[in-house]
Formats: sequence, structure tokens, C-alpha cells
Amino acid sequence: MSPNPQSAITNSRPEAAGARGSGAGRGATGREGHVLIAGAGIGGLACALLLARRGFSSTILERAPKLSEIGAGIQISPNASHLLLELGLGAQLAEYAVAPEALLLRAGRSGKILQRMELGAAAVARYGSPYWVVHRTDLQNVLAAAVEAEPACRIALGAQLKSFESNSEQVVVTVNDRDTYSGSALVGADGVRSSVRRLLLGDGEPEFSGYIAWRGTMAADAVPEELAGRESGLWIGPGAHLAHFPLRSGRIVNVVAIVSSDALAPDWGESCELGALDPFFAGWAEPARDLIAGVGQWLRWPLFDRAPASRWSRGRVTLLGDAAHPALPFIAQGGATAIEDAAVLARALAAAPDNIAGALHSYEEARKGRTAQMQRQSRRNGRIFHMSSPVNLLRDWRLSSMSPESFAERQDWIYGWRADA
Ligand SMILES: Cc1cc2nc3c(=O)[nH]c(=O)nc-3n(C[C@H](O)[C@H](O)[C@H](O)COP(=O)(O)OP(=O)(O)OC[C@H]3O[C@@H](n4cnc5c(N)ncnc54)[C@H](O)[C@@H]3O)c2cc1C
Repeated sequence: MSPNPQSAITNSRPEAAGARGSGAGRGATGREGHVLIAGAGIGGLACALLLARRGFSSTILERAPKLSEIGAGIQISPNASHLLLELGLGAQLAEYAVAPEALLLRAGRSGKILQRMELGAAAVARYGSPYWVVHRTDLQNVLAAAVEAEPACRIALGAQLKSFESNSEQVVVTVNDRDTYSGSALVGADGVRSSVRRLLLGDGEPEFSGYIAWRGTMAADAVPEELAGRESGLWIGPGAHLAHFPLRSGRIVNVVAIVSSDALAPDWGESCELGALDPFFAGWAEPARDLIAGVGQWLRWPLFDRAPASRWSRGRVTLLGDAAHPALPFIAQGGATAIEDAAVLARALAAAPDNIAGALHSYEEARKGRTAQMQRQSRRNGRIFHMSSPVNLLRDWRLSSMSPESFAERQDWIYGWRADA
């Protein structure tokens, strides 16, 4: 059955302006403490569900009047899929997710396969949980339907966090310059341009990385024959790379092209004319160019990130996901790490429910090293993927001479992570 959370999410009622304390009492599932979460992205939704499993109630404050995701795919690697399975979402996700058989890494210009990393059953055997690819809308719908079905979770839509006040007793959040919500903690899961981060850390805007992502989908039967399998593909070449993977039981294919460009696109999610990508891929192997030509509509996203922060929690307020540690998508881990964060945060709060500030500090301590490594590795991969000639020839030689096992081993620190480790 297709989840339809939009029809059923009940807008949580705010307190009267200025009211204090009513939300900070005993949560719906019995623990002291009600958690306010800013943002209903992957991180915020997963956080509410993982908190509920540990006995905490929560209210998600989402600025959008309706939940919607961009029409593109996302890879959910085993380090995150095991948490979605633990949440009991396996059956719902199985309706939509595809487990690609392998990742084929190719040289952009020659089309030569440099590496084949087995996924599918091999990922389950190696990591104990699947490597999925899924349409973002489907993932968001499954998470939102689970939140809606969970009595300890509420979502307030059209609720934009504008400010908060925190003291030793509680946090009071003002949304839309009008309504207030109170809780015993605030989690800023409000994305790369986080308002909670701005108010909490005041450390400036994220940096434009010099990369622009173009995202689109196409019908599977329009995909060039050489690329029409159950594999994911990653093509790397001078100044650009290209990723593709099947979605929705293989009926459509997700295509992402990322190019190095100093020309900052004016806005996020801007659609752009067909053919505008061609100059970046001139001279690439024919199947790559055909794939690009087959996408009927592109959305263009300038990519932003930040250097790792030394801290992101203060008192009863913390950050999670892109708000805490935005990374470039070159290891496809931003969504996965947001889910990981949520699991570690819920565990830290459950371990010290009477010391919220201490719990948030231990959550941050537990996450800082790994997420910083992700941010750095993503930037490094960007440089490696986009190398120009002649260093790219050495890179290609190194990649193709590596054994599949040592190539896979290099991913173990990412995919083999477990929340209780
Ligand atoms: C091209 C590309 C490909 C990617 N591929 C992958 C991949 O394959 N795998 C992977 O794991 N990750 C991938 N990522 C990264 C991933 O998309 C993000 O890291 C992830 O979506 C972050 O989730 P989040 O919940 O932290 O933030 P977001 O998804 O940005 O959610 C933030 C939410 O907060 C809301 N909000 C913002 N401000 C406020 C406010 N003031 N008050 C209330 N609500 C607010 C927003 O409306 C939004 O709903 C990719 C990213 C890009 C750009």
C-alpha cells in the first residue's frame, strides 16, 4: 500500500504565545522530556522515530506547508539501512527500494570499467544490511507515515523556527514570529542553511564548493543498452562526474551529473535548458553522453559545505545532519549520517535523561570524529573524481590495478558502522 502521510499529518497545536513549560513535562511514552525538532527532512523524521523507540516524545516543526522532496534518488548505504530496518520500515521500503547488484566505476572518456564493487547480496553478506537506492519522495513518505502512526511524534507543518530561548529548565521556540513551543531539548535538523545553527553558533553561511549538481530521471527503456542493468554507475572524468542508478523497481533511472564550475547557479532547484551540460561532457564515451541526452528535465543545485565544526551543541540545543556537518555528496553519505546521528542522539538521551545538556554533549563527542572524516573524504573524492589529464591516467591505473577486495575494504569504515559500536 502506498503511504499517504500528507492527508493524515495533524498539525500540532502551539502553546499560547509566551506559555512556558507545558511541552517540557512527561512525554507521551512516559519519559521526562519532550524534544522539539526543527526540520522534517530525512534527519528530522528519523530522529523523531528513533527518539520514540527510546521513550521520548517529540514535535517536528517544519517550515514547509506540505512535505515534499525533490524528484531524485538517494543511495541508502548499509550503515543507515540497518537503522531503517530496526525501525520496522523494511516491508514499506521494500516496495520502493532497489538493491543494485554492483557499482561499476568507469573512466569518463574511455568508458573503461576501472572497478566493480559487488552490492546486492554481497553487501548484505559483508555488512549485514542492504545497500538501497530509493526515490526521495518514497523514502520521505515512508518515514512520514511512520511518524504519523507513532503516538509519541507530532509534526507541525508551516512552522518556521525564527528564534529560541534556552535556560536550565527548558527550551522555548518561536515559530512564524507568533507561536511558541516548549520542550526539554531542541534539535536543529533544518538543513545546510540551518536557522538553529545561525542562532546557536553564528559561524556564518556555508561555503559554495565550486561544484554544481544537475539531477534528473529518465524512463529505464530510454537508457543506453550498455547501462541498462541492475547496476549503479559512476563515471569520473576531467572536471565532471556522472552517477546513475535504477529507481522504483527499475522503472526509472536516476541521473546526477556534477561539474566543477565557478559560475554559481542563481538558486537551488533551478530548472535549466537541455544541452547546457553538453560542453562539460564533450569527448566522453558515447553511453555517458547518450545518458545525459536522454534526461528530459534537469534541476541544477549549487553544492555547499562547511569545514568540520569543533562543536555544535550548547546546553539543551544541538544540531543534526546537514545542519551540523554538511558534506559534499561525493561519498553519498549526507542522508545516511543524518540517520546515524539520530540513532546516537536518541541513545545518548536515553542514557542520561536527567542531564539533557550532558547527553547532547556526549552525542556531539560521539559523532564529531566520524562526521568530520566524512566531510573531509567527500572533499577529497571531489578532487580525485575531477582530476584532469595527465594525473587522471595515473588515478585510473591505480584504481584498475586494485583488487576488488581492497577496493571494497576502503568503504568498510563507512558502510560497516553500527549505532551500538
Ligand atoms: C546531488 C546530491 C546527491 C546526494 N546523494 C546522497 C546519497 O546518495 N545518499 C545520502 O545519504 N545523501 C545524499 N545526499 C545528501 C542528502 O541529501 C542530505 O545530506 C540530506 O538530505 C540532509 O538531510 P537533513 O534532514 O539534515 O536536511 P534537509 O533534508 O535539508 O531537511 C531540512 C528540513 O528543514 C526544514 N527547515 C529549514 N529551515 C527551517 C526552519 N527555520 N524551521 C523549520 N523547518 C526548517 C526544511 O524545509 C527541510 O524540510 C545528496 C545531496 C546532494 C545535493
